[in-house]
Amino acid sequence: MLNSKIILLEPVLKTMIWGTESWGISAHPNGDCKVVSGPYQGYTLSSLWDEHRELFGDVKMQQFPLLTKVIDAKQDLSIQVHPDDAYANTNENGSLGKTECWYIMDCEPETTIVIGHHATTHEELEDMIKTGRWDELIREIPVKKGDFFQINPGCVHAIKGGTTILETQQNSDITYRLYDYDRLQDGQLRPLHIRQSMDVITVPFDAASVNAVSKKSGWLEQLIACDYYRVWKGVLCGEETLSLDAPFVLGSVIDGEVMIDKMSIKKGMHFIIPSGVTDVQLKGNGELIFSTL
Ligand code: ZN
Repeated sequence: MLNSKIILLEPVLKTMIWGTESWGISAHPNGDCKVVSGPYQGYTLSSLWDEHRELFGDVKMQQFPLLTKVIDAKQDLSIQVHPDDAYANTNENGSLGKTECWYIMDCEPETTIVIGHHATTHEELEDMIKTGRWDELIREIPVKKGDFFQINPGCVHAIKGGTTILETQQNSDITYRLYDYDRLQDGQLRPLHIRQSMDVITVPFDAASVNAVSKKSGWLEQLIACDYYRVWKGVLCGEETLSLDAPFVLGSVIDGEVMIDKMSIKKGMHFIIPSGVTDVQLKGNGELIFSTL
């Protein structure tokens, strides 16, 4: 582990009513990860971003732009939607909007997820919400391990129980809850955000918007390239070299164990390859998700 240039982070674990979240790479105030070892040990990712911007290729953005988390859903998550940058900036104290994407790490047989809705006009959407016709409104599709979905702002979505995903997203924690199955938390219904949801939901839903076209080259597969991030999956069997054209790279081991620049990284661990570290050698057997701007 000595002399490795890889920045290993300690995930922030969160217990939710429906399961757990592990914020693996986050500089968000609601879960700011700490560096585990090396010269920056003890720094939070936000302080590293503020004080050592050279590690991130001197990118000129006020906040660390991305957030990687693993969501392990034992029960269904609330049906929700996120705003875009413009709406969040105006209505949420200058926050960023939230574009996110999901890599399905694991799921039980016959599992589904909620992506999109069936309303054809805003009037129909409002009517279905106000009269609680959730079964008619909500679009549910089957999922399997290895599936990948892009969730743009305005896209109604929810992960169902029995699913583990790795989510790469903008650094934002703004969620509008549309429907929570009338569940109680500590004897209370969790607040809904019906007005904001109706403001931001895209009508009609565009099914093509969630299906990214993946591009394979050798051991790496690019899952998506959008305005906010690019994401790759890597399947490592033996030795490979990673050379991505990016100011810095976020990485997560989602299966197996991998040696990266003298550091052993196991499933569930997350790291940053800082600026200037190119042609990184990887060794071992495992699966990884990489992301960058
Ligand atoms: Zn979401």
